Amino acid sequence: MTTRRALVRVNVAAIERNCARLRGELRGSTELCAVVKADGYGHGAVQSARAALAGGASWLAVACAREARELRDAGMGDARVLVMGALTAAELREALAANADVVVWRQRDVEAVAAAGGGRVHVKLDSGMGRLGTRDAAEAARVVAFVRYTAGVELAGLMTHFATADDLDDAGFFVHQLAVFTDWAREIKRDHPEILVHAANSAALLREERAHFDMARCGIAVYGMDPFGADPYQRGLEPALQLSSYVAEVKGLAVGESAGYGRRFVATRDTCLGVLPIGYGDGWRRGLSNNADVLVGGRRRPLVGTVSMDNITVDLGPDPTDEPLGKEAILIGVQDAERITAEEVASRLGTINYEVTCALTPRVPRSYHRDGEPT
Ligand SMILES: *Cc1c(COP(=O)(O)O)cnc(C)c1O
Repeated sequence: MTTRRALVRVNVAAIERNCARLRGELRGSTELCAVVKADGYGHGAVQSARAALAGGASWLAVACAREARELRDAGMGDARVLVMGALTAAELREALAANADVVVWRQRDVEAVAAAGGGRVHVKLDSGMGRLGTRDAAEAARVVAFVRYTAGVELAGLMTHFATADDLDDAGFFVHQLAVFTDWAREIKRDHPEILVHAANSAALLREERAHFDMARCGIAVYGMDPFGADPYQRGLEPALQLSSYVAEVKGLAVGESAGYGRRFVATRDTCLGVLPIGYGDGWRRGLSNNADVLVGGRRRPLVGTVSMDNITVDLGPDPTDEPLGKEAILIGVQDAERITAEEVASRLGTINYEVTCALTPRVPRSYHRDGEPT
């Protein structure tokens, strides 16, 4: 095992299996769209997209034009790509030049697509998310009609996005949004059966079959993380990402001696500290100071002291049994019988698993394997 100061290893086979698992929830004709925005939730957009397509996804979705361009430049020529975010005029041109589908909800969005040379559009209803899309179902239907009359602009889909699909205690809001969208989309779909109706994210796919429509847009579950923040293994999802570092220095700490900025760890017994060259400059956030475990030699060791930009310290105990210097350390992932999930790190930070992997910075190299074999 070659050690690196900080390394993300992604198992593309896990992404494939997660996609197959998600596809298995869907009727045969329902498409799976793998969401690979934000560099594939930190996993690497291009490699994740390839694995997702191999695992049964037929569409890819991103947030912005540059992300669509990146997929095309990497040779993903024939996959359908949906850019889900708001676009400036320049970004719209870039998205269309990348042969991506875009999202519209106002007449002037449709005019902008026509002015940029035309393209495929998905009309978005804001059924309750309160972000992009139009709130008014009649207005959204007029936009659909306007698309039909605008030369060069093709109606490819109808969509919405759920605000509380991941919250089973949402006082009925998810079901309400689903009803609003279903009522709106039903009639339009009847007149235009060829268009793709889509609403579900990962949580909605796993939660409610009636939310599947013609396509589900899944991100978090593709990477084997749990959209509800629970243990992903319980839902048959397999985390694809491992974050590792190594023990670059070991030193004894006597009672009363401290480690790190601000002396936020002071030894209360003689102990051994391991220094791992990874820090918030790599995306291992400062909020994990005195607030995380790391696996070394198959055992959980507490992160002690302040997370600095480039280093953390872990308490290896008074007499670490075998020589820890040089040993691999797992910050997210499995080692022997122990595992640390992104969900565990998220709960320590009071955030969600999405943010944990998205936070990993470009300074951390990404490497890819297929169940341990080189890709
Ligand atoms: C990010 C995003 C998704 C994917 O959500 P997950 O919870 O990661 O599955 C789907 N739809 C839209 C509009 C999004 O922005």
